[in-house]
Amino acid sequence: MIRFDVLTLFPHMFDAVLGDSIIGRARENGLVEMNFIDIRDFSANKHRKTDDYPYSGGGGMLMTAQPVYDAYMSVAEGLSYKPFTVYMSPQGKIFSQSVAVDLSEKEHIVLLCGHYEGIDQRVIDEIVDMELSIGDFVLTGGEIPAMAVIDTVSRLLPGVLASEQSYENESHFNGLLEYPQYTRPAEWHGVSIPDVLISGHHANVEKWKREQSLINTLKKRPDMLEKAELTKEDIKFLEEYKKNPCS
Ligand code: SAM
Repeated sequence: MIRFDVLTLFPHMFDAVLGDSIIGRARENGLVEMNFIDIRDFSANKHRKTDDYPYSGGGGMLMTAQPVYDAYMSVAEGLSYKPFTVYMSPQGKIFSQSVAVDLSEKEHIVLLCGHYEGIDQRVIDEIVDMELSIGDFVLTGGEIPAMAVIDTVSRLLPGVLASEQSYENESHFNGLLEYPQYTRPAEWHGVSIPDVLISGHHANVEKWKREQSLINTLKKRPDMLEKAELTKEDIKFLEEYKKNPCS
């Protein structure tokens, strides 16, 4: 069980994405709790304003510290611990499967979503434990990045997917990309599935999956092979494949 509290100016964005399918069921089954907290509700301004002009000038508005801090305190106050607080930011550490695994071991995560030009640095310095980016590009707000983090982390929790195997074979879990997958019919548009998959020979199927994973990674993300944990057999297979890719 993990609890997410999301601090955002747009709480209504989340349910459309995280209310259905696998994550929606995980919420219904109590495997993951999500609360979406409207930062605007905490504005001390009589017009519920949550942004102001940056002192440094330039275009755009900056989210002010006060409502963000008070929204955070509405979650953190009274707890005997500090919830792990993540600011979704293009300046953060790049989100990856291994970061998701680390986060899935936390019990309580606060995700702070910025908007406009971002958030007054003083409140970031006071409450944030980690800045996390979903890639080297800039979105209009932290809501889509926060949804990506919640979805990725939630599906790693026990009971959320049908079996742990569902993600252990997947791309990025073991440093490789997944092998190609096929479903019925066995022949489609004149193309048959690989014979080995209907051979009933478990060891050969496992060997095929590993080799296809290695080939996929070599073709699409060769950079990943440098960091992956490869066996002697993997290395031998790759050397032979590179010499003769059609075999
Ligand atoms: N002025 C900021 C800068 O240059 O670093 C960018 C602000 S961005 C337009 C507004 C908000 O979107 C950020 O505060 C952050 O929460 C979110 N955001 C934008 N790109 C992101 C990314 N790649 N990963 C995570 N969050 C992002």
